[in-house]
Amino acid sequence: MVNIEDKYNCCGCTACASICAHDAITMAPDSLGFLYPKANSELCVNCGLCDKVCQFHNNYNRYDNYDSPLAYQFRLSQDEQLKKSQSGGAFFAIADKFIADGGVVYGAAFTDTWRVTHQKANDNITLSALRMSKYVQSDLRGVFRQIKNELKNGVRVLFSGTACQVAGLKAYIPKLLRKNLFCIDIVCHGVPSPKIWEDYLAYLQKTRGSQIVKACFRDKRFGWHGARESFLFENGKEEFRRTSNYLYFSGLSMRESCSNCHYTNLKRVGDITVGDQWGIPKDSPYEDDKGLSLILINSDKGKQLFENIEKKAEGISIKDCMQPQLKQPSKLHPDHQRFIYDYESKGFLYVAKKYGDLGWRYKRKCLIESIKDLIRPLIRR
Ligand SMILES: Cc1cc2nc3c(=O)[nH]c(=O)nc-3n(C[C@H](O)[C@H](O)[C@H](O)COP(=O)(O)OP(=O)(O)OC[C@H]3O[C@@H](n4cnc5c(N)ncnc54)[C@H](O)[C@@H]3O)c2cc1C
Ligand code: SF4
Ligand code: SF4
Ligand code: SF4
Repeated sequence: MVNIEDKYNCCGCTACASICAHDAITMAPDSLGFLYPKANSELCVNCGLCDKVCQFHNNYNRYDNYDSPLAYQFRLSQDEQLKKSQSGGAFFAIADKFIADGGVVYGAAFTDTWRVTHQKANDNITLSALRMSKYVQSDLRGVFRQIKNELKNGVRVLFSGTACQVAGLKAYIPKLLRKNLFCIDIVCHGVPSPKIWEDYLAYLQKTRGSQIVKACFRDKRFGWHGARESFLFENGKEEFRRTSNYLYFSGLSMRESCSNCHYTNLKRVGDITVGDQWGIPKDSPYEDDKGLSLILINSDKGKQLFENIEKKAEGISIKDCMQPQLKQPSKLHPDHQRFIYDYESKGFLYVAKKYGDLGWRYKRKCLIESIKDLIRPLIRR
Protein backbone atom coordinates (compact mmCIF):
# COMPACT_ATOMS: atom_id res chain seq x y z
CA MET A 1 0.00 0.00 0.00
CA VAL A 2 1.40 3.34 -1.08
CA ASN A 3 2.81 5.36 1.79
CA ILE A 4 4.60 8.64 1.18
CA GLU A 5 7.16 9.08 3.95
CA ASP A 6 9.28 11.50 2.00
CA LYS A 7 7.71 14.15 -0.23
CA TYR A 8 10.82 14.17 -2.43
CA ASN A 9 9.75 10.74 -3.69
CA CYS A 10 6.31 11.56 -5.01
CA CYS A 11 5.54 13.79 -8.01
CA GLY A 12 1.75 13.56 -7.61
CA CYS A 13 1.12 11.85 -10.95
CA THR A 14 -2.03 10.03 -9.64
CA ALA A 15 -1.07 6.66 -11.22
CA CYS A 16 -1.39 4.87 -7.86
CA ALA A 17 -4.82 6.34 -7.10
CA SER A 18 -6.00 5.58 -10.64
CA ILE A 19 -4.93 1.94 -10.57
CA CYS A 20 -6.50 1.06 -7.21
CA ALA A 21 -9.60 -0.98 -8.04
CA HIS A 22 -10.87 -0.51 -4.50
CA ASP A 23 -10.68 3.27 -4.57
CA ALA A 24 -8.60 3.08 -1.43
CA ILE A 25 -6.37 6.00 -2.47
CA THR A 26 -7.33 9.65 -2.58
CA MET A 27 -5.05 12.44 -3.73
CA ALA A 28 -5.01 15.00 -0.91
CA PRO A 29 -3.47 18.51 -1.01
CA ASP A 30 -0.74 19.68 1.37
CA SER A 31 -0.56 23.29 2.55
CA LEU A 32 0.82 24.44 -0.82
CA GLY A 33 -1.92 22.60 -2.71
CA PHE A 34 0.34 19.82 -4.04
CA LEU A 35 -1.43 16.46 -4.19
CA TYR A 36 -0.16 13.34 -2.44
CA PRO A 37 -1.75 9.88 -2.26
CA LYS A 38 -3.44 8.91 0.98
CA ALA A 39 -4.41 5.26 1.37
CA ASN A 40 -7.34 4.05 3.44
CA SER A 41 -6.22 0.82 5.12
CA GLU A 42 -9.82 -0.27 5.65
CA LEU A 43 -10.45 -0.38 1.90
CA CYS A 44 -7.00 -1.70 0.91
CA VAL A 45 -6.64 -5.42 0.08
CA ASN A 46 -2.83 -5.28 -0.16
CA CYS A 47 -2.64 -6.18 -3.84
CA GLY A 48 0.54 -4.08 -4.22
CA LEU A 49 -0.45 -2.54 -7.57
CA CYS A 50 -0.07 1.03 -6.35
CA ASP A 51 3.57 0.45 -5.42
CA LYS A 52 4.27 -1.38 -8.66
CA VAL A 53 2.81 1.31 -10.93
CA CYS A 54 4.89 4.11 -9.39
CA GLN A 55 7.53 5.28 -11.92
CA PHE A 56 9.08 8.03 -9.84
CA HIS A 57 12.50 6.44 -9.47
CA ASN A 58 15.73 6.15 -11.45
CA ASN A 59 14.80 2.85 -13.09
CA TYR A 60 11.62 4.19 -14.67
CA ASN A 61 10.40 2.41 -17.77
CA ARG A 62 11.34 4.16 -21.00
CA TYR A 63 9.45 1.58 -23.07
CA ASP A 64 10.72 1.40 -26.69
CA ASN A 65 12.09 4.91 -26.79
CA TYR A 66 15.43 5.65 -28.51
CA ASP A 67 18.61 5.79 -26.48
CA SER A 68 19.42 9.11 -28.05
CA PRO A 69 16.68 11.44 -29.36
CA LEU A 70 16.68 13.18 -32.75
CA ALA A 71 16.69 16.95 -32.24
CA TYR A 72 14.96 19.66 -34.30
CA GLN A 73 14.12 23.31 -33.99
CA PHE A 74 10.70 24.43 -35.11
CA ARG A 75 8.58 27.52 -35.49
CA LEU A 76 4.99 27.91 -36.71
CA SER A 77 4.98 29.80 -40.00
CA GLN A 78 1.96 32.00 -39.21
CA ASP A 79 2.80 34.89 -36.87
CA GLU A 80 -0.74 35.04 -35.47
CA GLN A 81 -0.54 31.39 -34.37
CA LEU A 82 3.01 31.80 -33.07
CA LYS A 83 1.85 34.55 -30.69
CA LYS A 84 -0.62 32.15 -29.10
CA SER A 85 2.09 29.58 -28.25
CA GLN A 86 4.59 29.93 -25.41
CA SER A 87 7.52 28.81 -27.46
CA GLY A 88 7.68 28.11 -31.22
CA GLY A 89 4.30 26.38 -31.33
CA ALA A 90 5.45 22.75 -31.68
CA PHE A 91 2.67 21.56 -29.40
CA PHE A 92 -0.04 23.28 -31.46
CA ALA A 93 1.37 22.00 -34.77
CA ILE A 94 1.29 18.39 -33.56
CA ALA A 95 -1.97 18.60 -31.61
CA ASP A 96 -3.90 20.43 -34.34
CA LYS A 97 -3.04 17.73 -36.88
CA PHE A 98 -3.80 14.98 -34.37
CA ILE A 99 -7.33 16.36 -33.88
CA ALA A 100 -7.81 16.89 -37.62
CA ASP A 101 -6.99 13.18 -38.06
CA GLY A 102 -9.77 12.23 -35.63
CA GLY A 103 -7.92 11.99 -32.31
CA VAL A 104 -8.35 13.80 -29.00
CA VAL A 105 -5.72 15.73 -27.04
CA TYR A 106 -5.21 16.12 -23.29
CA GLY A 107 -3.22 19.00 -21.83
CA ALA A 108 -3.17 21.62 -19.08
CA ALA A 109 -5.84 24.34 -19.11
CA PHE A 110 -7.51 26.78 -16.72
CA THR A 111 -10.86 26.02 -15.12
CA ASP A 112 -13.52 28.73 -14.69
CA THR A 113 -11.91 29.60 -11.34
CA TRP A 114 -8.34 29.69 -12.75
CA ARG A 115 -7.24 26.37 -11.29
CA VAL A 116 -4.98 24.39 -13.62
CA THR A 117 -6.21 20.93 -14.52
CA HIS A 118 -5.68 18.52 -17.41
CA GLN A 119 -8.54 18.77 -19.88
CA LYS A 120 -9.60 17.23 -23.17
CA ALA A 121 -9.59 19.00 -26.54
CA ASN A 122 -11.28 17.74 -29.65
CA ASP A 123 -11.65 20.90 -31.73
CA ASN A 124 -9.99 24.29 -32.32
CA ILE A 125 -11.70 26.04 -29.43
CA THR A 126 -10.94 23.46 -26.79
CA LEU A 127 -7.38 23.09 -28.11
CA SER A 128 -6.69 26.80 -27.71
CA ALA A 129 -7.29 26.43 -23.94
CA LEU A 130 -4.37 23.99 -23.68
CA ARG A 131 -1.90 26.41 -25.26
CA MET A 132 0.63 28.51 -23.27
CA SER A 133 2.50 27.44 -20.14
CA LYS A 134 0.72 27.45 -16.82
CA TYR A 135 3.40 27.66 -14.17
CA VAL A 136 1.67 25.68 -11.43
CA GLN A 137 1.21 21.94 -11.10
CA SER A 138 -1.73 20.69 -13.10
CA ASP A 139 -4.34 18.55 -11.30
CA LEU A 140 -4.71 15.13 -12.94
CA ARG A 141 -7.39 13.67 -10.69
CA GLY A 142 -9.72 11.44 -12.71
CA VAL A 143 -7.87 12.06 -15.98
CA PHE A 144 -5.93 8.78 -16.30
CA ARG A 145 -9.09 6.71 -15.95
CA GLN A 146 -10.86 8.91 -18.49
CA ILE A 147 -8.00 8.34 -20.96
CA LYS A 148 -8.08 4.61 -20.36
CA ASN A 149 -11.79 4.56 -21.23
CA GLU A 150 -11.15 6.52 -24.42
CA LEU A 151 -8.45 4.03 -25.44
CA LYS A 152 -10.78 1.11 -24.67
CA ASN A 153 -13.27 2.70 -27.06
CA GLY A 154 -10.64 2.81 -29.81
CA VAL A 155 -10.05 6.59 -29.61
CA ARG A 156 -6.54 7.86 -30.50
CA VAL A 157 -5.27 9.95 -27.59
CA LEU A 158 -2.43 12.47 -27.48
CA PHE A 159 -1.43 13.32 -23.91
CA SER A 160 0.79 16.30 -23.19
CA GLY A 161 2.29 17.05 -19.80
CA THR A 162 5.43 17.07 -17.69
CA ALA A 163 7.66 14.02 -18.01
CA CYS A 164 6.59 12.65 -14.61
CA GLN A 165 2.93 12.89 -15.68
CA VAL A 166 3.71 11.05 -18.91
CA ALA A 167 5.66 8.37 -17.03
CA GLY A 168 2.73 7.91 -14.64
CA LEU A 169 0.17 7.66 -17.43
CA LYS A 170 2.20 5.18 -19.48
CA ALA A 171 2.73 2.98 -16.43
CA TYR A 172 -0.99 3.02 -15.65
CA ILE A 173 -2.25 2.23 -19.17
CA PRO A 174 -2.02 -1.53 -19.85
CA LYS A 175 0.28 -2.57 -22.72
CA LEU A 176 -2.61 -3.78 -24.90
CA LEU A 177 -4.19 -0.31 -24.87
CA ARG A 178 -1.00 1.66 -25.49
CA LYS A 179 -1.12 1.35 -29.29
CA ASN A 180 -3.37 4.39 -29.66
CA LEU A 181 -1.69 6.44 -26.93
CA PHE A 182 0.79 9.11 -28.02
CA CYS A 183 2.64 11.26 -25.50
CA ILE A 184 4.38 14.63 -25.54
CA ASP A 185 6.47 15.56 -22.53
CA ILE A 186 7.65 19.12 -21.98
CA VAL A 187 11.13 20.08 -20.86
CA CYS A 188 10.43 20.99 -17.27
CA HIS A 189 12.02 23.31 -14.76
CA GLY A 190 9.66 22.25 -11.93
CA VAL A 191 6.12 23.02 -10.91
CA PRO A 192 5.18 25.79 -8.45
CA SER A 193 2.38 25.75 -5.91
CA PRO A 194 -1.29 25.72 -6.96
CA LYS A 195 -2.35 27.15 -3.57
CA ILE A 196 -0.05 30.18 -3.78
CA TRP A 197 -1.44 30.85 -7.28
CA GLU A 198 -4.98 30.64 -5.90
CA ASP A 199 -4.16 33.05 -3.04
CA TYR A 200 -2.38 35.42 -5.40
CA LEU A 201 -5.40 35.67 -7.69
CA ALA A 202 -7.74 36.11 -4.73
CA TYR A 203 -5.52 38.96 -3.52
CA LEU A 204 -5.49 40.66 -6.94
CA GLN A 205 -9.26 40.35 -7.33
CA LYS A 206 -9.94 41.70 -3.86
CA THR A 207 -7.58 44.65 -4.07
CA ARG A 208 -8.65 45.57 -7.64
CA GLY A 209 -12.34 45.10 -6.80
CA SER A 210 -12.93 43.13 -9.96
CA GLN A 211 -12.87 39.52 -11.13
CA ILE A 212 -10.13 38.24 -13.41
CA VAL A 213 -11.42 37.26 -16.83
CA LYS A 214 -8.09 36.44 -18.48
CA ALA A 215 -4.76 35.39 -16.98
CA CYS A 216 -1.41 34.64 -18.58
CA PHE A 217 1.79 33.54 -16.83
CA ARG A 218 4.15 34.80 -19.55
CA ASP A 219 2.58 37.16 -21.99
CA LYS A 220 4.18 36.91 -25.44
CA ARG A 221 3.41 40.59 -26.11
CA PHE A 222 6.58 41.23 -24.09
CA GLY A 223 8.57 38.85 -26.26
CA TRP A 224 9.59 35.25 -25.81
CA HIS A 225 12.25 36.19 -23.26
CA GLY A 226 10.07 38.72 -21.46
CA ALA A 227 8.81 37.43 -18.15
CA ARG A 228 5.55 39.31 -17.63
CA GLU A 229 2.25 38.06 -16.27
CA SER A 230 -0.90 39.69 -17.52
CA PHE A 231 -4.35 39.90 -15.97
CA LEU A 232 -7.50 41.26 -17.58
CA PHE A 233 -10.23 42.25 -15.14
CA GLU A 234 -13.99 42.27 -15.59
CA ASN A 235 -13.98 46.08 -15.30
CA GLY A 236 -11.89 46.26 -18.49
CA LYS A 237 -8.57 47.13 -16.82
CA GLU A 238 -5.48 45.15 -17.75
CA GLU A 239 -2.44 44.73 -15.52
CA PHE A 240 1.06 43.53 -16.39
CA ARG A 241 3.41 42.30 -13.68
CA ARG A 242 6.86 40.76 -13.52
CA THR A 243 6.44 36.99 -13.35
CA SER A 244 6.15 36.39 -9.61
CA ASN A 245 9.36 35.42 -7.94
CA TYR A 246 7.76 33.13 -5.36
CA LEU A 247 5.66 31.49 -8.04
CA TYR A 248 8.10 30.50 -10.67
CA PHE A 249 11.75 31.22 -11.27
CA SER A 250 13.10 31.15 -7.72
CA GLY A 251 12.07 27.63 -6.66
CA LEU A 252 10.58 28.98 -3.43
CA SER A 253 7.22 27.29 -3.88
CA MET A 254 8.37 24.47 -6.17
CA ARG A 255 7.22 20.93 -5.47
CA GLU A 256 9.91 19.12 -3.50
CA SER A 257 10.03 16.12 -5.86
CA CYS A 258 11.11 18.45 -8.70
CA SER A 259 14.47 18.86 -7.00
CA ASN A 260 14.70 15.06 -7.11
CA CYS A 261 13.39 14.74 -10.68
CA HIS A 262 14.41 11.55 -12.47
CA TYR A 263 13.52 12.83 -15.95
CA THR A 264 15.91 15.74 -16.39
CA ASN A 265 18.02 13.89 -18.94
CA LEU A 266 17.83 12.53 -22.49
CA LYS A 267 16.23 9.26 -21.34
CA ARG A 268 12.86 10.71 -22.34
CA VAL A 269 9.49 9.10 -21.59
CA GLY A 270 7.31 10.85 -24.18
CA ASP A 271 7.23 9.98 -27.88
CA ILE A 272 8.11 13.61 -28.45
CA THR A 273 9.63 16.17 -26.09
CA VAL A 274 8.95 19.88 -26.64
CA GLY A 275 10.68 22.80 -25.02
CA ASP A 276 12.26 26.15 -25.72
CA GLN A 277 15.22 26.17 -28.08
CA TRP A 278 17.24 28.75 -26.19
CA GLY A 279 20.64 28.21 -27.82
CA ILE A 280 20.00 30.36 -30.90
CA PRO A 281 23.15 31.90 -32.43
CA LYS A 282 23.15 35.72 -32.53
CA ASP A 283 23.16 35.84 -36.36
CA SER A 284 20.19 33.45 -36.71
CA PRO A 285 16.93 34.69 -38.31
CA TYR A 286 15.18 33.26 -35.24
CA GLU A 287 16.91 35.73 -32.93
CA ASP A 288 13.85 38.01 -33.04
CA ASP A 289 12.28 37.11 -29.69
CA LYS A 290 9.21 35.50 -31.29
CA GLY A 291 9.95 32.02 -29.92
CA LEU A 292 11.53 28.82 -31.19
CA SER A 293 10.62 25.29 -30.17
CA LEU A 294 12.94 22.46 -29.42
CA ILE A 295 11.55 19.09 -30.55
CA LEU A 296 13.11 15.81 -29.50
CA ILE A 297 11.88 12.71 -31.32
CA ASN A 298 12.14 9.81 -28.92
CA SER A 299 10.34 6.89 -30.59
CA ASP A 300 8.85 5.56 -33.83
CA LYS A 301 5.49 6.88 -32.70
CA GLY A 302 7.10 10.28 -32.23
CA LYS A 303 8.45 10.09 -35.79
CA GLN A 304 4.94 9.32 -36.99
CA LEU A 305 3.57 12.45 -35.27
CA PHE A 306 6.46 14.55 -36.48
CA GLU A 307 6.17 13.55 -40.15
CA ASN A 308 3.21 15.91 -40.54
CA ILE A 309 5.25 18.97 -39.60
CA GLU A 310 8.68 17.76 -40.62
CA LYS A 311 9.07 20.06 -43.65
CA LYS A 312 9.11 23.17 -41.47
CA ALA A 313 11.53 21.82 -38.87
CA GLU A 314 15.32 21.94 -39.02
CA GLY A 315 17.60 19.22 -37.66
CA ILE A 316 20.07 20.34 -35.00
CA SER A 317 22.70 18.54 -32.96
CA ILE A 318 21.92 17.46 -29.43
CA LYS A 319 24.80 19.50 -28.06
CA ASP A 320 23.15 22.67 -29.42
CA CYS A 321 19.97 22.13 -27.46
CA MET A 322 21.21 20.99 -24.09
CA GLN A 323 19.86 23.19 -21.32
CA PRO A 324 20.10 22.67 -17.54
CA GLN A 325 16.69 20.94 -17.40
CA LEU A 326 18.01 18.20 -19.71
CA LYS A 327 21.00 17.62 -17.43
CA GLN A 328 19.96 17.88 -13.81
CA PRO A 329 16.97 18.76 -11.61
CA SER A 330 16.35 22.36 -10.58
CA LYS A 331 17.25 23.32 -7.05
CA LEU A 332 14.80 24.38 -4.41
CA HIS A 333 15.42 27.89 -3.12
CA PRO A 334 17.63 27.83 0.00
CA ASP A 335 14.72 29.52 1.85
CA HIS A 336 12.13 26.99 0.66
CA GLN A 337 11.48 25.52 4.12
CA ARG A 338 11.37 28.95 5.70
CA PHE A 339 8.95 30.07 2.98
CA ILE A 340 6.59 27.17 3.81
CA TYR A 341 6.88 27.85 7.53
CA ASP A 342 6.10 31.53 7.00
CA TYR A 343 3.22 30.73 4.67
CA GLU A 344 1.67 28.20 7.03
CA SER A 345 2.03 30.40 10.08
CA LYS A 346 1.55 33.91 8.66
CA GLY A 347 -0.29 33.49 5.37
CA PHE A 348 -0.03 34.65 1.78
CA LEU A 349 0.30 38.40 2.25
CA TYR A 350 3.25 37.96 4.56
CA VAL A 351 5.22 35.74 2.13
CA ALA A 352 4.26 37.88 -0.85
CA LYS A 353 5.81 40.89 0.87
CA LYS A 354 8.82 39.07 2.25
CA TYR A 355 9.77 36.94 -0.78
CA GLY A 356 7.66 38.20 -3.61
CA ASP A 357 6.24 41.06 -5.53
CA LEU A 358 4.46 43.11 -2.90
CA GLY A 359 7.46 44.52 -1.06
CA TRP A 360 10.56 46.66 -1.68
CA ARG A 361 12.51 43.72 -3.07
CA TYR A 362 10.05 43.50 -5.95
CA LYS A 363 10.27 47.22 -6.65
CA ARG A 364 14.07 47.01 -6.74
CA LYS A 365 13.88 44.02 -9.10
CA CYS A 366 11.45 45.89 -11.36
CA LEU A 367 13.89 48.77 -11.64
CA ILE A 368 16.78 46.45 -12.53
CA GLU A 369 14.64 44.55 -15.05
CA SER A 370 13.45 47.78 -16.68
CA ILE A 371 17.05 48.88 -17.16
CA LYS A 372 17.86 45.45 -18.65
CA ASP A 373 14.88 45.78 -21.02
CA LEU A 374 16.20 49.12 -22.19
CA ILE A 375 19.72 47.89 -22.90
CA ARG A 376 18.83 44.42 -24.30
CA PRO A 377 18.13 45.64 -27.88
CA LEU A 378 21.42 47.56 -27.83
CA ILE A 379 23.34 44.40 -26.82
CA ARG A 380 21.63 42.34 -29.56
CA ARG A 381 22.73 44.71 -32.30
C1 LIG B 1 5.90 24.26 -15.37
C2 LIG B 1 6.61 24.37 -16.67
C3 LIG B 1 8.01 24.44 -16.71
C4 LIG B 1 8.68 24.53 -17.93
N1 LIG B 1 10.04 24.59 -17.91
C5 LIG B 1 10.71 24.63 -19.10
C6 LIG B 1 12.12 24.67 -19.12
O1 LIG B 1 12.78 24.72 -18.09
N2 LIG B 1 12.75 24.65 -20.33
C7 LIG B 1 12.06 24.60 -21.51
O2 LIG B 1 12.67 24.56 -22.57
N3 LIG B 1 10.72 24.58 -21.51
C8 LIG B 1 10.02 24.60 -20.34
N4 LIG B 1 8.65 24.56 -20.33
C9 LIG B 1 7.96 24.36 -21.62
C10 LIG B 1 7.78 25.61 -22.44
O3 LIG B 1 7.50 26.71 -21.60
C11 LIG B 1 6.61 25.44 -23.42
O4 LIG B 1 5.43 25.14 -22.70
C12 LIG B 1 6.81 24.34 -24.37
O5 LIG B 1 7.99 24.56 -25.09
C13 LIG B 1 5.63 24.22 -25.31
O6 LIG B 1 5.55 25.36 -26.06
P1 LIG B 1 4.76 25.36 -27.43
O7 LIG B 1 4.95 26.68 -28.05
O8 LIG B 1 5.13 24.15 -28.23
O9 LIG B 1 3.27 25.07 -26.98
P2 LIG B 1 2.16 25.82 -26.19
O10 LIG B 1 1.03 26.04 -27.12
O11 LIG B 1 2.62 26.95 -25.42
O12 LIG B 1 1.64 24.62 -25.26
C14 LIG B 1 1.84 24.50 -23.93
C15 LIG B 1 1.96 23.00 -23.65
O13 LIG B 1 2.41 22.86 -22.33
C16 LIG B 1 1.48 22.08 -21.59
N5 LIG B 1 1.39 22.66 -20.24
C17 LIG B 1 1.15 23.95 -19.94
N6 LIG B 1 1.14 24.10 -18.61
C18 LIG B 1 1.35 22.88 -18.07
C19 LIG B 1 1.40 22.40 -16.75
N7 LIG B 1 1.26 23.18 -15.70
N8 LIG B 1 1.63 21.08 -16.57
C20 LIG B 1 1.76 20.25 -17.63
N9 LIG B 1 1.72 20.65 -18.91
C21 LIG B 1 1.53 21.96 -19.13
C22 LIG B 1 0.16 22.17 -22.32
O14 LIG B 1 -0.61 21.03 -22.05
C23 LIG B 1 0.63 22.26 -23.75
O15 LIG B 1 0.92 20.97 -24.21
C24 LIG B 1 7.95 24.52 -19.13
C25 LIG B 1 6.56 24.46 -19.12
C26 LIG B 1 5.89 24.39 -17.90
C27 LIG B 1 4.40 24.31 -17.89
S1 SF4 C 1 4.69 9.42 -7.86
FE1 SF4 C 1 2.64 9.01 -8.67
S2 SF4 C 1 2.37 6.79 -8.51
FE2 SF4 C 1 4.12 7.35 -7.23
S3 SF4 C 1 3.27 7.64 -5.20
FE3 SF4 C 1 3.28 9.65 -6.14
S4 SF4 C 1 1.26 9.88 -7.10
FE4 SF4 C 1 1.53 7.70 -6.64
S1 SF4 D 1 -2.35 -2.17 -2.28
FE1 SF4 D 1 -3.95 -2.47 -3.84
S2 SF4 D 1 -5.85 -2.15 -2.76
FE2 SF4 D 1 -4.26 -1.36 -1.43
S3 SF4 D 1 -4.20 0.81 -1.90
FE3 SF4 D 1 -2.70 -0.21 -3.23
S4 SF4 D 1 -3.77 -0.65 -5.11
FE4 SF4 D 1 -5.32 -0.21 -3.56
S1 SF4 E 1 10.61 18.78 -12.66
FE1 SF4 E 1 10.34 16.59 -12.93
S2 SF4 E 1 9.14 15.96 -11.14
FE2 SF4 E 1 8.88 18.17 -11.36
S3 SF4 E 1 7.04 18.40 -12.58
FE3 SF4 E 1 8.79 18.48 -13.97
S4 SF4 E 1 8.99 16.37 -14.68
FE4 SF4 E 1 7.73 16.31 -12.85
